[in-house]
Amino acid sequence: MSESTLNPFGALLSIDLDALCDNWRSLRARLSAAECAAVVKADAYGLGAERVAPALYRAGCRSFFVAHLNEGIRLRPVLPADADIHVLHGPHPGAERDFVRNRLVPVLNSLPQVQAWQSLARDLDAMLPAVLQVDTGMARLGLAPDELEHLTASPDGLQGIALKFLMSHLVSAEAQGNAVNGLQLERFRAARGRLPGVRCSLANSSGIFLGEAYHFDLVRPGAALYGVAPVAGQPNPLRPVIRLQGKVLQTRRIAAGTAVGYSHTWTAARPSRVATVAVGYADGYLRSLSNSGVAHCDGISLPLIGNISMDTLIVDITDLPEGRIVEGDLLDLADPLNGVDAIASRAGTIGYEILTSLGQRYARRYIEGGEG
Ligand SMILES: *Cc1c(COP(=O)(O)O)cnc(C)c1O
Repeated sequence: MSESTLNPFGALLSIDLDALCDNWRSLRARLSAAECAAVVKADAYGLGAERVAPALYRAGCRSFFVAHLNEGIRLRPVLPADADIHVLHGPHPGAERDFVRNRLVPVLNSLPQVQAWQSLARDLDAMLPAVLQVDTGMARLGLAPDELEHLTASPDGLQGIALKFLMSHLVSAEAQGNAVNGLQLERFRAARGRLPGVRCSLANSSGIFLGEAYHFDLVRPGAALYGVAPVAGQPNPLRPVIRLQGKVLQTRRIAAGTAVGYSHTWTAARPSRVATVAVGYADGYLRSLSNSGVAHCDGISLPLIGNISMDTLIVDITDLPEGRIVEGDLLDLADPLNGVDAIASRAGTIGYEILTSLGQRYARRYIEGGEG
């Protein structure tokens, strides 16, 4: 991307689709028989579903998951017909026909959703594809085990539904020692016993790393594709996907004792050089990184000082050689030295939230086929 393309923007967000596809392939390589899907909800965790999903399709992915119906409607035209798009929230009452019209597969999460889907199948005199979710411990979405029992007790309980999968979702898969994982696995196996022969899906990104018992027939990674570490406390085996470079608007010298930014939460202890960068919390660079985040230049770590504003943040560049940074230069705000998990831990959140907060204000450059 040329300098002038970047002119109207305060920062450049580079999204490495090659790394993303490598991550998908490396997750798939951990599976022996299961299919590897991709979760591209929330605009592919902020990285752009309309670029991410076709790249994954070219890498071989055929099953995709979004959260909302409108995400599925937007995704349908950018994926070939043999890609299955599943909608995790299922149809709101009255929205069932939109699923059929857009060839989207709902995840049915409640008995009323099941009944509405069956009633549409009767009206259309067709078998309609769906995924059925059973709750195994999240208490968020899905049939309770007794509801599944009720449904499967009657022979025509699932009439009209071409059941593609039975699925459930793990609560704490990133914490490998947590006993809730085994408990959910046990409950899921029991649910599966009620629907012999039906394909099953339990694991998210972290669930893949819990071992083969958790893989069943299809796994649903999201975060790990985008470079988030799947196992708490262990080195991240996945490639970083994003790089965020903020543009320097101004540099200045300040005397020792000078306070910086809103509410003067930082005061220079020495004569300092500081750079104002055109990225703020309105760009998803969370305000909780005030006085705790870091930028990088030439591998040198530079502290974010003072409160992050809506459109700007301030970096202490005193440790860089004089003249190294001038107006218009770029400072790294997220890069392999300072990945989404590192930023998240400084901000008191998780890598998922760093990604999905990124927002639409950055110039975006997609790297694909080694170019971008
Ligand atoms: C978001 C989501 C996923 C993906 O989870 P990651 O932790 O990002 O891999 C999988 N399944 C369901 C039901 C989800 O809501």
